[in-house]
Amino acid sequence: MNTRAYNFNAGPAALPLEVLQTAAAEMTDYAGTGMSVMELSHRSASYEAIHNEVQQRFRALYQLPATYRVLLLQGGASTQFAMVPLNMVQPHQQASYIVNGSWGIKAHAEAALLGEAVVCASSKEGGYRSIPALDVATLPPNTAYVHLTTNETIEGVQCHTFPTVPYPLVADMSSDILSRPVDLTRFALVYAGAQKNLGPSGVTVVIAHEDVVERSPATVPTMLRYDTHAKHNSLYNTPPTYSIYMMNLVLRWVEQRGGLEGIAQANEQKAQLLYEVIDESAGFYVGHAEKSARSRMNVTFRLADRTKESVFLEQAQQRGFIGLTGHRSVGGCRASTYNAVPYEACAALATFMRDFLRHS
Ligand code: PMP
Repeated sequence: MNTRAYNFNAGPAALPLEVLQTAAAEMTDYAGTGMSVMELSHRSASYEAIHNEVQQRFRALYQLPATYRVLLLQGGASTQFAMVPLNMVQPHQQASYIVNGSWGIKAHAEAALLGEAVVCASSKEGGYRSIPALDVATLPPNTAYVHLTTNETIEGVQCHTFPTVPYPLVADMSSDILSRPVDLTRFALVYAGAQKNLGPSGVTVVIAHEDVVERSPATVPTMLRYDTHAKHNSLYNTPPTYSIYMMNLVLRWVEQRGGLEGIAQANEQKAQLLYEVIDESAGFYVGHAEKSARSRMNVTFRLADRTKESVFLEQAQQRGFIGLTGHRSVGGCRASTYNAVPYEACAALATFMRDFLRHS
């Protein structure tokens, strides 16, 4: 009997069933150690092998050159909102933010607490439904970096291209990392909390050029310095060992699914199933994002007749569709179709949406 829920949670989110099964099988005796991974010393050879494998897998999947570092940190993407400006803005410099939605707003606000941070492009006026165009000529010469959020989890808008800027480009990829091929060498630094496409919460991945992570300003506290973690292979203090182990299993699962190309194709098909229902509903369902900025990870929509929304969400819940309520700040509905959400779950949701429309 299939007891797995149709899990459309925005994060923590669905994990691949095969990964959970492997973790379950290895729970009390990891690779003949007689211990759970949770019980291993982070200084043991068994754990260090996992730790290094994760970095290697990221390197291979993204074809990273030797000049890039993969750091495994804690504190979530929210801590990166502060670590990026703390480490990357030198005196007399300013940080620039492209803001496409709620997480970009937060990232910018955090940088503004620490120094000069400007919004260089924003889609606020249109209600964060699109990716704003950046006029590179407006960036001042003392720009430390340009920051963007590649996928806005709450609004469901995603960058399908990235700007070319004459300054280091930094990206919050929390909700679309590992979902498609991306040339990460276009970025000086990218970061992502794990709890959408990478594994359980607890670990935050930073992939950055060595120039960025090897020289933090002298006044930055030890744990918030990229160079501390780069120098110690992310083992300066105790890392979130179990989350990193789970991430290793997830990365292996992605490799087995055709790497980033294979995953991207599957994600495209899944999101398409839902956007098709929206587009063919003659205005019954209304997508939040403009078509050109639609996210393959978070499908956000409303019912034109708002009074039907709660009925829709209630019936969906009864049929076993979990996590479809839109974020409390924007309302409506959101289906997060991350890597581990099976095609069948999206197909079942598409069928439910068509049935609901027919019976309304
Ligand atoms: N950025 C984006 C794009 C996110 O989706 C989230 C989490 N939903 C965050 C940042 C914050 O991440 P965390 O909870 O790991 O701090």
